[in-house]
Amino acid sequence: MKIIVVGCTHAGTFAVKETLKNNPQAEVTVYEKNDNISFLSCGIALYLDGKVKDPNGLFYSNPKELSDLGADIQMSHNVKSIDPDTKTIVVENLTDGSTKTENYDKLVMTTGSRPVLPPIEGSNNEHVYFCKNWHDAQILFEKAKTAKRITIVGGGYIGAELVEAFSNHGHETTLIDTNDRVMSKYFDQEFTDVIDAQYEEHGVHLELNQRVNNFETIDDELVLTTNKKKIKTDIAILCVGFKPNTELLKNKVKMLDNGALITNEYMQTSNPDIFGAGDSVAVHYNPTNQNEYFPLATNAVRQGILVGKNIVNPTTKYMGTQSSSGLQLYDYSIVSTGMTVSMAHNKEIDVHSVVLKDNYRPEFMPTTEEVLMSLVYDPKNRQILGASLMSKYDISQSANTLSVCIQNKNTIDDLAMVDMLFQPNFDRPFNYLNLLGQAAQEKEAK
Ligand SMILES: Cc1cc2nc3c(=O)[nH]c(=O)nc-3n(C[C@H](O)[C@H](O)[C@H](O)COP(=O)(O)OP(=O)(O)OC[C@H]3O[C@@H](n4cnc5c(N)ncnc54)[C@H](O)[C@@H]3O)c2cc1C
Repeated sequence: MKIIVVGCTHAGTFAVKETLKNNPQAEVTVYEKNDNISFLSCGIALYLDGKVKDPNGLFYSNPKELSDLGADIQMSHNVKSIDPDTKTIVVENLTDGSTKTENYDKLVMTTGSRPVLPPIEGSNNEHVYFCKNWHDAQILFEKAKTAKRITIVGGGYIGAELVEAFSNHGHETTLIDTNDRVMSKYFDQEFTDVIDAQYEEHGVHLELNQRVNNFETIDDELVLTTNKKKIKTDIAILCVGFKPNTELLKNKVKMLDNGALITNEYMQTSNPDIFGAGDSVAVHYNPTNQNEYFPLATNAVRQGILVGKNIVNPTTKYMGTQSSSGLQLYDYSIVSTGMTVSMAHNKEIDVHSVVLKDNYRPEFMPTTEEVLMSLVYDPKNRQILGASLMSKYDISQSANTLSVCIQNKNTIDDLAMVDMLFQPNFDRPFNYLNLLGQAAQEKEAK
């Protein structure tokens, strides 16, 4: 069987490894337009912050590893068109400019995503950058050495992490967002109030409720014009979201409005010989039971593995996702899984929620830390739909526990009483997650 994999970062790398593990005889050819594979972009902010010392450690595979497994790896090759009727692709060798046509039995579309380019005049300005891949990372690492003033446009996860990293290292850092709260898409107000206050405490200029309309260079300075003011800076980094790279299949398979490929539970697109995984595809979002777009490495690696398991015989089903995620912001761990209240309201889903603050372990211990928690649930069947936690204590694994609760359709009553260990080093007789469930029960009893 001849399998062609288009794009090889996370979803592609995992798809290739799993395909060859299950089908050692398969003829797998990979076309990747870049000169590297498996770069962990999440390390960009960590390197800028000095937490990661060697960015070369941010790769977990390489073309030789995949070749040794039996794949034919064609780096610096850009797939230019796909014809599902003849089951052929046209691919350009970016080194010598030559093109060829290749046929396939199965095609794997792991072309990922690219940063959204908002309609801002002058966004091709030489001082405006993106933060996505190894190429972008190298430019940012170099620019960070000399740029004093750095402006991030877009306060999602990536913008938020970059702002923290730059502000920790003496840069005059500005964050511009059209919303009135940083990370408003991911956390409700109780959390973003703390986040905004943290930025201000660390000297970050928050320019919220503002839209950038124009970039221009004036006397070698980059000037951003928003709907409210002009901001002078040395460089700007655009972090306003990601768009799936799926133009090659436009009008050929089913997609969401943003172009994300819609797949079945075996990762097959509406053309059963074309599989998709990672940022190029929609996820099955368990809290809503709908297809949604959440470009995360967590989804990419799982879906890549599923492609490898299903490409010859579709057998292993995708479980869907809660799109759990987290970040470390200054001293705080901030994590979430499933829906926030504002996300539910935007989708016109009726939810109830409860917010609780409690110390994670008893006050008689030498230290303890407060945990801010929220739980979002369906008031009709009491099923948990989302949760967020924030603390100076590492509560990251609690988001994973709550992710399992959502996956397994647990209720607030399950969470209130489920067995969790007690020992004063770790928690109270009722773990703080039990208490969160109990707070929701109390609210519903009123
Ligand atoms: C700064 C940053 C931080 C992040 N942090 C986290 C995190 O902490 N946790 C998390 O879960 N996720 C994180 N993410 C998201 C995560 O990186 C993505 O979800 C992940 O990269 C998706 O992997 P992918 O393989 O599907 O797609 P991509 O990484 O987009 O890779 C797609 C590949 O396809 C290639 N390609 C595209 N078109 C073609 C073509 N026509 N021909 C040949 N090759 C092609 C591209 O060159 C690329 O190598 C972060 C992302 C960024 C940018």
